[in-house]
Amino acid sequence: MSTLETKRHSLAHLMAAAVKEMWPQAKLAIGPAIDNGFYYDIDFAGASINDTQLKEIEKKMTHLVKQNLEFTRTEKNIEEALAWARAEKDPYKEEIISDLKEKGETTVSFYTVGQFTDLCRGPHVENTKEIKPHSFKLDKLAGAYWRGDEKNKMLTRLYGLAFDTKEELDEYLKMMAEAEKRDHRQLGKDLDLFMNHELAPGMPFFLPKGMILLQELLKFVRSYSYGDGYYEVRTPQILNAELWKISGHWEHYQEDMFCLHHAEDDIDLGIKPMNCPAHMLIFKRDLHSYKELPLRLAETTTLYRNEKSGTLHGLTRVRSLSQDDSHIFARPDQILDEISTLLDKIKMIYRVFDLEIDEIHLSTRPAHFLGEKSVWDEAEANLKQALEKAKLAYHINEGDGAFYGPKIDVKVKDAIGRQWQLATIQLDFQLPQRFALKYTEADGSAKTPVVIHRALLGSMERFLGVIIEHYAGAFPLWLSPVQVKLISVAKTHLPACQKLANELKEAGIRVEIDENNETVGNKIRKAIKEKVPYMLVIGDKEAAAEKLVVRDRGAKETREISREDFLKELTDKIKNYT
Ligand SMILES: [Zn+2]
Ligand SMILES: [Zn+2]
Repeated sequence: MSTLETKRHSLAHLMAAAVKEMWPQAKLAIGPAIDNGFYYDIDFAGASINDTQLKEIEKKMTHLVKQNLEFTRTEKNIEEALAWARAEKDPYKEEIISDLKEKGETTVSFYTVGQFTDLCRGPHVENTKEIKPHSFKLDKLAGAYWRGDEKNKMLTRLYGLAFDTKEELDEYLKMMAEAEKRDHRQLGKDLDLFMNHELAPGMPFFLPKGMILLQELLKFVRSYSYGDGYYEVRTPQILNAELWKISGHWEHYQEDMFCLHHAEDDIDLGIKPMNCPAHMLIFKRDLHSYKELPLRLAETTTLYRNEKSGTLHGLTRVRSLSQDDSHIFARPDQILDEISTLLDKIKMIYRVFDLEIDEIHLSTRPAHFLGEKSVWDEAEANLKQALEKAKLAYHINEGDGAFYGPKIDVKVKDAIGRQWQLATIQLDFQLPQRFALKYTEADGSAKTPVVIHRALLGSMERFLGVIIEHYAGAFPLWLSPVQVKLISVAKTHLPACQKLANELKEAGIRVEIDENNETVGNKIRKAIKEKVPYMLVIGDKEAAAEKLVVRDRGAKETREISREDFLKELTDKIKNYT
């Protein structure tokens, strides 16, 4: 049986075959498998293509699939391959083959399906009968620069969705339709949470209501992602290039950093894309005894990363971000306990947000690694033991770890079944060495600590984007920017509203009075759109009554409750993060 990825990539070939039948002059660039299907970047040589034609391509593909065609592999030596690309008048394939030649390749492989041959490394399905005819669908068209470089020609990217079965495809389409309804970029606008501006692409502006969400989240982070034994610090945003040279970022990560030159001092500076190097400097400030470890430094200040414009997306792909970041400086014998505690925190945190832990990956020692094999073995054994102790199922990505340490990644499933990667726990044997960090052992010898990089929510911006969609904007009470909305029927009821509002505010509840001169019906509709958890309409009857008349979010009917019970209900819910 072929893997889904193989089927997806094979479909990219079939799509190219269909395109070449319909537009013989089209030039093909690349056609990989992706998370939900496949795409092919194609130069239509001036012809424009529309959604109707996309449907026709799909029909042709279905036709090809049903013919039970075989994928056959052939090889050409590199010169023959170049001649082939020139004969095809395909500059993209020619460039790819030239690059392979430059890298020293002497032969390249081709795959033929039906009448269509394409340069490819494989693998593919053996026969198109392995692909179910209605398990795929051409999805959309987009522009994409050749090799992702805006200096190059803009090609047309044809996206296809593909799954093992039609049922899985339908399930996915249903999920995407639901996702569109709860797009956090739209909800962010509708609920006045944040805005973006062309003058700061990828750097969200948090509006007052979004700021409340962020502040509540930060309070939560301080209690549960950090908590006892964590020390929050604040380090500079702009740091001398010398620091980034020590940490290795200058050499390996500079493209992703915003850098500047200080003319007066004639020095290069880097805006921090992560906190680690600054935390190394804090550790280095003092002498540490083995008894002081683990030392946990935490920081949530804003980081800046130079993400490509084309990849920016609302809050989930940004250039300015903050994390529930921490660096734990530990002795090797403390790894197990630290990881166990972190896994417990992860379980607790995701439970609060009703996010289901979906997949955990443990990435282990790669072929080229830093440090002692025995240290790695011990650390990996600790990570496995901690995962087992926490009763968490995990996959091992053998050899997939970074060269400086093994890693645990946690993916969750949201309310509509989408997967998000959130927590990362990364062991690091390298950074402490680069910074020559030491602590004193019981016998007086100097030892190098291990550093654990950890973020459990990940980036706060991204996490907010995820939960806005997860809750479809209807946040649990504790997170809701406005928790109670009071609606006055007429001006004369404002004092009664004000009195109740004061009582609620005194109990720490966020309350808003809608005193606009509109009909009650309008005000109710507005409060429903704002997804406020509780709404109370105050008119003559309500102002005089002992009991409150409350409308719960989503409920058609109102209910009566005493002031005392209402306050208790709300404060209990808030206390319990519900
Ligand atoms: Zn291929
Ligand atoms: Zn770090």
